[in-house]
Amino acid sequence: MMPTVTLKPGRAKSALQRHPWLFRGAIARLPEDAADGDVVRVVDESGAFVAYGYLNRASQITVRLLSWEEGEAPDEAWLFRHLEQAVAWRRSRLGWPAEGASRLVYAESDGLPGLVVDRYAGWLVVQFLTLGSERWRDPLLAWLRRELAPEGIYERSDVDVREKEGLPQRTGPLWGPPPPTCVEIVEGGHRFRVDIVGGQKTGFYLDQRLNRQRVASYCRGREVLNCFSYTGGFGVYAAAEGATQVWQVDESGDALRLARDNMEINGLPAPADHYLERDVFQLLREYRDRGRRFDLIVLDPPKFAFAQSQVERACRGYKDINRLAMGLLRPGGILATFSCSGAVGQELFQKVLFGAALDAHRDVQIVETLTQAEDHPTLLSFPEAAYLKGLVCRVL
Ligand code: SAH
Repeated sequence: MMPTVTLKPGRAKSALQRHPWLFRGAIARLPEDAADGDVVRVVDESGAFVAYGYLNRASQITVRLLSWEEGEAPDEAWLFRHLEQAVAWRRSRLGWPAEGASRLVYAESDGLPGLVVDRYAGWLVVQFLTLGSERWRDPLLAWLRRELAPEGIYERSDVDVREKEGLPQRTGPLWGPPPPTCVEIVEGGHRFRVDIVGGQKTGFYLDQRLNRQRVASYCRGREVLNCFSYTGGFGVYAAAEGATQVWQVDESGDALRLARDNMEINGLPAPADHYLERDVFQLLREYRDRGRRFDLIVLDPPKFAFAQSQVERACRGYKDINRLAMGLLRPGGILATFSCSGAVGQELFQKVLFGAALDAHRDVQIVETLTQAEDHPTLLSFPEAAYLKGLVCRVL
């Protein structure tokens, strides 16, 4: 008999609605005969079956639910079915070009809580965000090798959330040779060098793929300031679409060196002083004081709010950079502004921009609303997966 987790009276609703997270506070009794990482049966206070999930007592999210069909405990066949379903979507939607890059598995959204798999051309990068997902390691690697025949599989489980699962960070080859310094991919017809070993996240911000294309469509004939550029994603697209000049700003020198490479391998060289290793908050103030102007500004900052308690502070940060950026735009200029803080919703983000516009004394029109690319889907039962929002604004 499988170990059983019993819920407190009246606490089964969200689990029955297929939300995959079961918090410690909803649980009346934990099993004694299960190790952390094991699959358990979840029942309500009357003993009625609710779902199967994997257990981790170290985490506030004590069970992640996997299957709601009694008698269909998640096994290897279950895992393979979910992997197939996830990869089939990317394959049908994006094809499988040799140099392509996409998120193949997006954790909870693909029914595989805690597991991320990204593809960069022939290389796969895996993140295990939870203890339970680490248990899938061997069958996962076997499936990936058999079905996708990669050149190598690399682990980038160096993410802070693992601490909440009681796990150390870990990186290194999972299978195959060590990866090259940079893997070259093609996105939107542009070449990018991706550092899957040392880059941020798994190496590239795949979630912004469609937004880079949309923002580029406003760039022809414009002077573009790409803030928080990382390896130059928005800047490469902008220059290729006919921006007259592109400046890239990031506090990371490594990111900027790759940004420069990426511009050059696309035949879009820019002068050295167009790569600014600077703090965006400071630089925008300097530009304000000097009366510097641009035609299009991209703001794609890192996550400012990691928890509900940080939302207010995050909003002050968003307001600050957006107010400054609006002030730097020539009349009719375009602001492409993003937030990847899940805790800051679309409505709140728009409110923050309204405050920024009032402070900047500018009338601002939203001309386009953006979100994460379709290889980062959101289950209706798990809206938390929708974290990226963007607005393209015309600043009058
Ligand atoms: N737009 C990028 C992704 C941006 S990720 C793309 O399309 O690929 C956020 C970036 O902001 C990171 O590269 C990080 O190094 C940088 N960053 C974080 N805080 C910063 C700050 N205060 N000033 C400048 N850059 C910053």
